[in-house]
Amino acid sequence: MDHPGADPRPLIDILQRNGLLVAALPALEGGLDLGLVPQRNSLLAEVLMTIGRGSLPMGRLFEGHVNALDLIHRFGDGEQMRRAAADVREGCLFGVWATDDPSRPLRMTAEGRLEGRKILASGAGRLLRPLVTATTEEGVRLIAPRLRPGERSEVRSWTASGMQVSATGSVDFTGMMTREADRIGPPGCYQKEPYFTGGAWRFLAVQCGGVEELVQLMRHHLRRLDRDGDPHQRRRLGECMVAAETARLWVRKAALVYGSAEEETVLAYVQLSRHAVERAALDVLERVQRSIGLQAFLRPSPVERVARDLATYLRQPGPDRALDNAAALAFAAEQAGWP
Ligand SMILES: Cc1cc2nc3c(=O)[nH]c(=O)nc-3n(C[C@H](O)[C@H](O)[C@H](O)COP(=O)(O)OP(=O)(O)OC[C@H]3O[C@@H](n4cnc5c(N)ncnc54)[C@H](O)[C@@H]3O)c2cc1C
Repeated sequence: MDHPGADPRPLIDILQRNGLLVAALPALEGGLDLGLVPQRNSLLAEVLMTIGRGSLPMGRLFEGHVNALDLIHRFGDGEQMRRAAADVREGCLFGVWATDDPSRPLRMTAEGRLEGRKILASGAGRLLRPLVTATTEEGVRLIAPRLRPGERSEVRSWTASGMQVSATGSVDFTGMMTREADRIGPPGCYQKEPYFTGGAWRFLAVQCGGVEELVQLMRHHLRRLDRDGDPHQRRRLGECMVAAETARLWVRKAALVYGSAEEETVLAYVQLSRHAVERAALDVLERVQRSIGLQAFLRPSPVERVARDLATYLRQPGPDRALDNAAALAFAAEQAGWP
């Protein structure tokens, strides 16, 4: 499954078989409210970390599913939520495709016709219920098109070294007609804060799982080779455990803050969390590769795959801006400190 053009369907099937697709639905629709109510954020953090430990591409797909259903629940009407829930119960994975092809960004005409293309769209060809952002005269709208397997998509452009089975390809919507019922919420709802920026805590939780997995793989490797008595290896393992726990603590608190704190605190805390988790992951990657050596680069070793997936998945939008924004909010705040 770890090759260019790999089919993510087996990952979606695992999510479905284990009840995770449905868990992201409201309780009224038979779900667990996972990702929909603040009281479930701690549970969601643990679920995302656990999935991330097993498979970062699966975590990416599930994180997008949770994000999309949260947007429909928050901004959609009752009928849109019921329709989405019926699709989820049928095994449909949802996701959010917001990244535009810079040369052909997605637009919607006044008649409801889509023109343009999404890129970096996880699950392309297999994810049949995306939410896509489209520019209109009224502002950015959130649209819920319905796709058939393979329709309008291509994954050849997904040549990243890691996260290959996430099928993060492109989808051309040109010519597709949308109806009023396909439009979720008012113009601009997708970027409503603190959900837009604050929701980043979910991908951090998945990344955190990948960090934990790497540390465990390193520990097993060194024990197997009887290298666990060496003081240099012990020091690096200790440093990795500190980094992994740091990431976990930031993620767990970000999950709590996201559901309960003032908007500015959420924005500052989650954007700082991005820096903390990225730093921890990079520290772990460096130490794991140094400790294991060349073996960490030989396929098909799990260390090689997880390191490649993590390094790729760490690349999320605007990391410099996130830290800068958080620091600016801290300077502007009346009081220092966190809730
Ligand atoms: C595995 C994977 C799956 C994905 N799936 C999806 C998906 O399903 N849907 C979706 O919409 N997107 C998806 N994305 C895309 C993702 O949301 C981001 O758009 C993408 O990862 C941005 O990465 P980047 O490194 O190019 O970011 P950039 O923001 O371009 O950052 C690169 C560097 O440039 C700096 N920088 C950013 N802006 C500026 C500027 N104006 N001036 C100077 N420097 C700047 C940054 O701080 C950073 O150092 C996915 C990405 C990955 C890796």
